[in-house]
Amino acid sequence: MGETINILVVDDEKGIREGCRRILASEGYSVDVGVNGKEGLELAKAKQYDLILVDLMMPVMGGIELMEELRRFDSEVIMIVVTGFATIETAVDAMRHGAYDYIPKPFTPDQLLVVVNRGLEKRRLSQQTLRLMEERDQKLLEVANEKSKLHTIVISIADGILVINREHQLVLWNPAAIKMLGLRGGLEAGSEINRIIPQKDLVGVIDKGFSPDSSQYTVISEEIILPPPDKKTIMVNVSRVRDEAGRDFGVVATLNDITTLKEINEIKSQFVTMVTHELRAPLSAIEGYLSAYLTGAAGSDPKMYQQMMERARQRAHSLLELINDLLQYSRLESKSVTRKKEHLDISEIIVNTVELFKVQGSAKDIRFELNIPDSFPLIEADRSEMEQLFTNLISNAIKYNVKNGRMIVDARPEGHFLHISVSDTGIGIDEESLPCVFDEFYRVCGPETRYVTGTGLGLSIVKKIVESHFGQIKVESELGKGTTFTVMLPIKQNKG
Ligand code: ATP
Ligand code: MG
Repeated sequence: MGETINILVVDDEKGIREGCRRILASEGYSVDVGVNGKEGLELAKAKQYDLILVDLMMPVMGGIELMEELRRFDSEVIMIVVTGFATIETAVDAMRHGAYDYIPKPFTPDQLLVVVNRGLEKRRLSQQTLRLMEERDQKLLEVANEKSKLHTIVISIADGILVINREHQLVLWNPAAIKMLGLRGGLEAGSEINRIIPQKDLVGVIDKGFSPDSSQYTVISEEIILPPPDKKTIMVNVSRVRDEAGRDFGVVATLNDITTLKEINEIKSQFVTMVTHELRAPLSAIEGYLSAYLTGAAGSDPKMYQQMMERARQRAHSLLELINDLLQYSRLESKSVTRKKEHLDISEIIVNTVELFKVQGSAKDIRFELNIPDSFPLIEADRSEMEQLFTNLISNAIKYNVKNGRMIVDARPEGHFLHISVSDTGIGIDEESLPCVFDEFYRVCGPETRYVTGTGLGLSIVKKIVESHFGQIKVESELGKGTTFTVMLPIKQNKG
């Protein structure tokens, strides 16, 4: 009800109308009057009344008809019948037509006020009830909205989520958890986790969350490895859930697939171990030569010391090469590497690189063959990386070649790719080692390679360069016959 209480009096008797107006106005109510049912109806349609006093006997439109009309558009208004024939029948009839109460004529001001105030009290209470119901509906709607928001959020989280109650039953989960754990079939809220989660390690971690020692703030974090074929590493975090009253509700477990992170870590630590190993060998050799020199342990022959210093210098040189290769490798590895890609005619780079190896090749009497067509397609590439690529391949073809061997470079366009192969008639690579030659620090161990120096990084750099140019590399080899590396690089446009 608003601040002012509006009352309408509909009666054809002027005395009653005006009498009521006076009595009710003196109580602070705002009062309008109508002389018959029709006029009363018009007034009630134009304004919201809290209470309407209706005379039963009126010309034009009687009280019963008026009440029926009023109910049609306002179900809450309090209607009180004013009647000169207060019999049980009329009262019952009036009530049937929606009247709340009735007052027989004639009446005293006090009698009128008792009936009117009772009606208004009823109106106040029913309006309050209505408001409370609306508020409750609104709250329910908000709760429902919150619930569905929460639901959507839980469903969209990339980490797996499992909520388990005190009875160790699953009450909430998300698709990420189902996928990670490979749970099939329709899961049902209330299922025992022991029964539905096949990964016993996971159930074990969840159980720890229920242990009496784990307080509200403890988070139990453990890595579990899912059994084959998945073999995923999952980081499980389990924490207690309490309701608003602080009562234990159960636990929530979040599952984070850290398989890739683990693999990267593993590769990193392997790499560090390899690098330190590779650096240690030449350095300790150099240290050995230097101590022998300083202590005079190698006797008095100066030639001996000369030889030792020469070896130390060679080792220092290969150490420097290793470091340069490492720098190059990490440069290629880093995402921020800036390539200056241009349209290149790599036939020129190949010819120049082969030229650089002429001296080295002639030491073993190696014959060089170059089969490069006159018209050569361009590729989009970084010049210095292309130089490194061919330097590494040609250097291998000479290093791992035999005396009087041959080194052949073939280049030809094939479809959208340029195929360049570097072949040798050297020692070849055994079948077992072949898949590993592109790995970092991998070197084939054997009598032929024993005295050939190298870091084992050359081909891994080659592979990285090829991949960064959207190309491919393959190797074919036969032990004792020779090896062919073929690089395929995408063609940019035809020359000329
Ligand atoms: P680096 O190139 O860094 O000086 P490297 O030549 O030992 O050292 P890679 O170029 O990566 O390293 O080659 C890896 C290994 O593969 C070599 O140690 C060698 O055993 C083998 N290999 C590479 N090219 C040939 C080849 N043409 N013939 C036979 N074996 C080869
Ligand atoms: Mg090499």
